[in-house]
Amino acid sequence: MAESVAKYVVCPKCQQQSMTNIMISANTVEDTNIRKMVFDETIFRWKCKKCGYSSKYQHPFLYNDIENRFMVYYIPYVERPKVVDQKLETEFADLAGIRKRIVPDINSIKEKIAVFEKGINDMALELTKLAVSDVVAKETSHNVYAGYFTDMDEEKNSISFQFFVGGERRSYIQTTRLEVYKRSLDIVRRYFPKENRKPGFLNIGRAWASSALEKYKSSGR
Ligand SMILES: [Zn+2]
Repeated sequence: MAESVAKYVVCPKCQQQSMTNIMISANTVEDTNIRKMVFDETIFRWKCKKCGYSSKYQHPFLYNDIENRFMVYYIPYVERPKVVDQKLETEFADLAGIRKRIVPDINSIKEKIAVFEKGINDMALELTKLAVSDVVAKETSHNVYAGYFTDMDEEKNSISFQFFVGGERRSYIQTTRLEVYKRSLDIVRRYFPKENRKPGFLNIGRAWASSALEKYKSSGR
């Protein structure tokens, strides 16, 4: 069942304090609306009871997809490679093979959900994204600030990402052949087979992919 905590929030507009319920965890089986609430971000919105002012409210949230066997723990701005939460480890200790992830932003929580629902290996996806991101940086001569999975099409043999490039964070769609993902999957299976069995919630993003790529290169291949 969804778990909430009551918090006092001071309205930035009317300065009045009011009690608000913050949802801190939910699972897709009992809380059937939760996926929609994450994707339309209503779960991260707060509304002042006094003046009606509404704004984004970033707070930690644990998304638990029981059927697809994964959990995504959104911790705003988290940078650590791993978070071990004793309470959660005890609570879910018997559930072997559950993929547990931490993500630093709302776009990433949506991305992980979409990726795991499609049965995609997120480690291989991040390695693919890193390679494609380098191509985009070269093609546009701009820094790439972020990138997210958008689609995988077996028939068209393609995988697509949306990147945000340059000072204006312009949206840039880049598609590549599925072989790049398959090659990445091969690297993950051969060089990081135990990664998913480690305790705790892993931060599998760009930093992980960069360090994994370094390890792979220094392994002598
Ligand atoms: Zn207010």
